[in-house]
Amino acid sequence: MDKLIYLDNAATTRTRPEVAEAMAPYFSEYYGNPSSFYTLAHKSAAAIKEARDIIVESIGAQKYDDPEKYDVYFTAGGTEADNWALIATAEAYQDKGKHIITSAVEHHAVLHSCQYLEKRGFEVTYVGVDKDGIIKLDELEKAIREDTILISVMFANNEIGTLQPVKEIGAIAKEHGVLFHTDAVQAYCQVPIDVDKMNIDMMSASAHKLYGPKGIGFLYIRKGIKTKSFIHGGAQERGRRAGTENVPGIVGFGKAVEIALANMEQRAKEEMELRDHLIKRVTTEIEEVSLNGCQKSRLPGNTNFSVRFVESESLLLDLMSKGICASSGSACTTKSLDPSHVLLACGISHERANGSLRMTIGAYNTKEEIDYTVDCLKEIVKRIRGLSPLYEDYLKKNK
Ligand code: PLP
Repeated sequence: MDKLIYLDNAATTRTRPEVAEAMAPYFSEYYGNPSSFYTLAHKSAAAIKEARDIIVESIGAQKYDDPEKYDVYFTAGGTEADNWALIATAEAYQDKGKHIITSAVEHHAVLHSCQYLEKRGFEVTYVGVDKDGIIKLDELEKAIREDTILISVMFANNEIGTLQPVKEIGAIAKEHGVLFHTDAVQAYCQVPIDVDKMNIDMMSASAHKLYGPKGIGFLYIRKGIKTKSFIHGGAQERGRRAGTENVPGIVGFGKAVEIALANMEQRAKEEMELRDHLIKRVTTEIEEVSLNGCQKSRLPGNTNFSVRFVESESLLLDLMSKGICASSGSACTTKSLDPSHVLLACGISHERANGSLRMTIGAYNTKEEIDYTVDCLKEIVKRIRGLSPLYEDYLKKNK
């Protein structure tokens, strides 16, 4: 392949070779259905238990000898986990009330589940965020009503990397007797998470964001929560999530978590160094560029800029021609020309939101790659601005 600099680690990550290696025997050697009777099947069931144990421990959840008691349920990814947490919980608790609270900056897996519920008679309050993308806690607390059954606020934002005050949100939810779900797809294995200490009742995660395979995730559901089955069929996952388990995916997920946890601090430190270097160079060497999101409370590898007088699409195309993979925001909305709902919710103007550029650093990036990217970006911005009448006006007024 020609030169490739991958700076879109929030969209997905490269599966680690150790993870692919751990998965391989479960395709062709230990291929038994974990629900079957014979020894070959037991091998698959044991591998699932091993992966589940690693995951349960990683979030401070309870471990059991009896697999029937676990609170972690494997799903086909983060989207399914979010849909399950919202839709099935709403259904299970509708006798108590039909009001849900979420934030304006959630991933579409949560927002579109909310819209689905609104069409079915539920009411949803979308709490605003400040300029850094942090949820307004006073607004959140004021939004709680007698009939509120669920608060769903993401752990970290996929576009701007802002980390939410999850512990505080959990405490508010607990005080008011409301369930709390967090979409931790971006945060899991990037920052420490403890479901008990943070009062998290439900949590979604996905393997492909942490160097694991695509199409496998989990939903943590605290014991005692009534959430119903979302996928109907067989008795897998304690009768709550039907379908033959994705054994290789689960094994890969467990391995990815094991590696990610072992080097979390070191990786975060390295990513932060590269991130801060990237931010410094971009904001000092290119004029009229601003950093979106929070300076301090931010995922280690996330950068999100607004580059004035350029459109994201032209930027991304030019970067692609230099072998650089980046995005304008969420991978799920890259093909949409609408400005990001996250940036607009932070009070960023349409003009600045239209020139957004997200570059997310991961375990495989180097300083040389960052420097090459900034050098290319400077050239590209100059070229595109050279064609912009708005930039010409700006120069006339300001120089
Ligand atoms: N939630 C967030 C915050 C995400 O970033 C993503 C993926 O981009 C998802 C949910 C969906 O996860 P998956 O791709 O595993 O369905």
